[in-house]
Amino acid sequence: MTDILSNLRTLNRLVGYTPLLAIDIRYRGQARRIYAKNECSNFTGSIKDRMALHILRKAHLSGVLSPGAPIAEATSGNTGISFAALGRALGHPVTIFMPDWMSQERKDLIRSFGAQVRLVSAAEGGFLGSIRLSEAWAAETPGAFLPRQFANEANVEAHATTTGPEIWAQLASEGLKPQAFVAGVGTGGTVMGAAQFLKGMDRTIQVHPVEPSNSPTLHTGHKVGKHRIQGISDEFIPAIVKLDQLDEILSVDDGDAILMAQKLASRGLGVGISSGANFLAALQAQDRLGSDAVVVTVFSDSNKKYLSTDLMKEEPVKEGFLSPDVEFLGIGQAIR
Ligand code: PMP
Repeated sequence: MTDILSNLRTLNRLVGYTPLLAIDIRYRGQARRIYAKNECSNFTGSIKDRMALHILRKAHLSGVLSPGAPIAEATSGNTGISFAALGRALGHPVTIFMPDWMSQERKDLIRSFGAQVRLVSAAEGGFLGSIRLSEAWAAETPGAFLPRQFANEANVEAHATTTGPEIWAQLASEGLKPQAFVAGVGTGGTVMGAAQFLKGMDRTIQVHPVEPSNSPTLHTGHKVGKHRIQGISDEFIPAIVKLDQLDEILSVDDGDAILMAQKLASRGLGVGISSGANFLAALQAQDRLGSDAVVVTVFSDSNKKYLSTDLMKEEPVKEGFLSPDVEFLGIGQAIR
């Protein structure tokens, strides 16, 4: 246990405390600034390290997870990478259940950490099938620990105790306060946790969940259509998502998100597709509050896991897209 505690302390220094970037753009003739937490600075390169480390720490401290016990999780990718790396760093065998259509980079990365990958086809139920199979696996594996990210309140707590307070403190160091926060919903841990903390500090702060307009799960409550923003809109509304505690849902077309991520990368800021979506949703939130409103979002991961996807291809511009009107001027500031 002592070893595990000291390992947990070391990992704690490698997760969170990410820079808050001030992104300067010109948008429809106006100078605009959007703030974004650069989550690819985390240990395995995504925002999910925060949740995985918090859940593993809690499980160890409460005794639910014994040293060396097997861990299994159902995930669309980044969570698998986080639990694989952090779980292996703490000495656990790890099995990840994931839909077989996720990017090759994600599958390979998880395997590279020494975790088992169990691919689940659409015929076996995709995301929901992954959850069902992981539950069945845990039921017949003695001592197995299932983090259950879609239903575990510790996922929300991870962001209420790290992401939210970091945003508040980083802006305060510049004499600023957030007026809105937006984030795409996968498990919803990020948006719910940030909402809990930020609205607790000031009830007037707007917190918007974001989803793909071509697959509006939050609006409908179930899987509709197809989209290319890996990591968000996973076929159902997770148990930890309480839409009545959030403000209006914002929607972004997946092609627009791709174009925006490409535009950020073309000037050196290599972010993933959901980060492009978050950026465009932040602009929408700013449109509602005024062009100089302090709006914050997260860049959940980098472009490196999307080398085999449409992010690396030419994307057609469609009527109504916002990204063609964005001129990326540069990173104005990186607040530590
Ligand atoms: N973007 C990416 C790339 C992700 O992997 C995830 C996690 N599924 C999210 C956004 C959404 O984060 P959350 O699960 O906290 O809602």
